[in-house]
Amino acid sequence: MRGFGLAILLIVEFASAAAAEERSALDALVRAYPQQLAGYDAMDLIWRDGTRMPLSDRHPSILDQLRLSYTAGISPAALYPQNDAGRARNRPFFDKMYGNCWKGEVAPSLVPVVWLPQSWGRTVRITSVNGIAERLTDISEELDALPSSLRRYLYPSAGAYNCRVVADTGEPSMHSWGAAIDINSAYAEYWLWPRAASRGTIPPEIIEIFERHGFIWGGKWSHYDTMHFEYRPELLTRHTLSVEPDVLHTPAVENAVLH
Ligand SMILES: [Zn+2]
Repeated sequence: MRGFGLAILLIVEFASAAAAEERSALDALVRAYPQQLAGYDAMDLIWRDGTRMPLSDRHPSILDQLRLSYTAGISPAALYPQNDAGRARNRPFFDKMYGNCWKGEVAPSLVPVVWLPQSWGRTVRITSVNGIAERLTDISEELDALPSSLRRYLYPSAGAYNCRVVADTGEPSMHSWGAAIDINSAYAEYWLWPRAASRGTIPPEIIEIFERHGFIWGGKWSHYDTMHFEYRPELLTRHTLSVEPDVLHTPAVENAVLH
């Protein structure tokens, strides 16, 4: 009986620790989008306009997209790909935030940003929601001050807004919400088409600047995409859920992997 009681106690402790991690991740989500999100309760995410969205009704759910921890920074450990944090995205969440481009809902929020005005000077289109266009303008100016040996990785940009799905999943790309940018494809490495060249060729100075403004780098994904940056500030606060990797490698989550 004593062993049984101990097992129950451990299960209860595990459950409460998991619940605390979920709350921590949801706190980070609400903090990351203060103009849009008001809070959450046991079942729903609550938007400022009163909309409620279930936290775990589909795959990937709102909680699923917070489960993997993105390691910010440019330490060797941070730059070594560990997981696919950020690649599973809850479609209703991002459609609500940025609109559905197939219904023409994203275009009204798009604005042109001059990419590296001193070096390249052409425009990319990105959403103004969440101040992303202003953030990208700041990023662009900081990048433009880097030495030319680093700037060559940044232009021509391979594009920002693009109303498309990811080829192998059929799910919307973050580009479809106007919240991602691809830098120079000439130096890019993509998991589907690995090259002989070594990975991680993007200078860390570039990654550091993007992350400081709320953009995660696709080069840290197991399914790496080294020219890709997307606005995901909720993953840069290091309050994401930490669960065992095999919990996440369920077919539903794997199939939800996006570009
Ligand atoms: Zn991309």
